[in-house]
Amino acid sequence: MGAQRYEFAIVGAGASGLMAAGETVQAGSTIVLEAKQKPGKKLLATGNGRCNLGNRGVSPAHYHGDVERASRVLERFSSEKLEQFWRKNGLLCRELDEGRLYPYGMQAASVLECLLRRVVERGGEVRCDFPVEEIRREQGFLTLSGPSGKVRARRVILACGGMASPSLGGGELGYRLAKSLGHQVTPLFPSLVQLTAPPARVKPLKGARSLAEISLWTGSHGVASAKGEVQFTGEGLSGICVFEVSRSYGELSEKERKTAELSVCLMPEYGPGDLYAFLRTAASSPLLPAQELLDGLLNRLVAREVLKSAVRRLPAYAREYKPAELSAIAARVRDFRFPVTGTAGWQAAQVTAGGVPLSEVDISTLESRLCSGVYLTGELLNLDGDCGGYNLHWAWATGLLAGRSAGMAANPGTRWDFRL
Ligand SMILES: Cc1cc2nc3c(=O)[nH]c(=O)nc-3n(C[C@H](O)[C@H](O)[C@H](O)COP(=O)(O)OP(=O)(O)OC[C@H]3O[C@@H](n4cnc5c(N)ncnc54)[C@H](O)[C@@H]3O)c2cc1C
Repeated sequence: MGAQRYEFAIVGAGASGLMAAGETVQAGSTIVLEAKQKPGKKLLATGNGRCNLGNRGVSPAHYHGDVERASRVLERFSSEKLEQFWRKNGLLCRELDEGRLYPYGMQAASVLECLLRRVVERGGEVRCDFPVEEIRREQGFLTLSGPSGKVRARRVILACGGMASPSLGGGELGYRLAKSLGHQVTPLFPSLVQLTAPPARVKPLKGARSLAEISLWTGSHGVASAKGEVQFTGEGLSGICVFEVSRSYGELSEKERKTAELSVCLMPEYGPGDLYAFLRTAASSPLLPAQELLDGLLNRLVAREVLKSAVRRLPAYAREYKPAELSAIAARVRDFRFPVTGTAGWQAAQVTAGGVPLSEVDISTLESRLCSGVYLTGELLNLDGDCGGYNLHWAWATGLLAGRSAGMAANPGTRWDFRL
């Protein structure tokens, strides 16, 4: 039996693929091929199941990679436009802190259902358990094949996502397909990921959380900083602020990584002089045990570890600390340092830094410059965003653009009712 023929085949039923399919289905027969057993696995896990689907502050400043080219896509798909899109498709957004947008019901499932409905109610098909392993041009069609069979399509949208989080669909297959079509892939590294530290330093802190300002250093050179809640995991440091500096860690050379350290300033609002004065007063209490000196300021686990790393001896009472020791403790509260041994890797990462260069696609359509009829979207491209809804914004924008462009190319001269 010959392979089934479609006008459009979308590889990957994730955020950008389903968005693209909702467009192409208005212009011709569409099939979405998904490697996993179900569509949208990663999407369901976004924002801890709540799906931080965008950000009102979207701007090129929140992206990394081929930002200049990407800004031409971002300017066409503003946050307002996307909110209107969701509204027209039956989903209201709500804004939480720092411009972050979520579905009003705070459930990622509602976003996935909305995307699937757009595809299926117009006759599109979603076929799961279908990893595409090869794409070839044959007799005017592109043939997509894998262990589950073959499909032919006139136009293909590669929406395979990146390497992050393999259990949710991340992997290298998309990059392999892109390379087989002649594309380059820039070096890939995990971003928005925990940083690891020596177990002896972080194990005692497991489970502690502290509001802090953190900065990444290599030798005496400050590389990046961020503010927020640091979570000590037992293997390293996590939390949105750590995710934010993790990208800069990924960019360091092997040599620079050898001296990488994360400095956690646990009381950024207080200068060393203020802190020292406070500690002197606190330490004058006659019965305050020395190991409890910082308990009124910091998470207890953190307080004990700061003391251990700041002073060599632990007297019985805080009043026994010498002025030099109090000054060392004050300094350590503002600069609690951890050597960085690496990242928690692809399994824990939220996003991939690197990908197919945007110079290899026509930025006004996202069609490959190297293989006509193939379009590329989302995380597969060399663009990644900060934490806060920016990565999904990019997935939606590129999915809409590629789907719409493929639809228009298939039907030149026709005006389509693309619902944005
Ligand atoms: C835990 C977690 C939480 C996140 N939270 C947020 C958040 O709240 N806000 C935000 O903006 N971003 C978030 N992200 C990032 C965001 O989910 C991704 O950037 C976004 O989903 C990328 O969209 P995409 O369409 O490129 O790829 P994906 O959504 O990953 O979809 C790609 C799909 O293609 C399939 N696939 C891959 N190769 C093939 C193949 N060869 N054949 C068939 N199918 C294939 C995969 O199985 C997958 O389903 C989070 C990521 C993770 C891991």
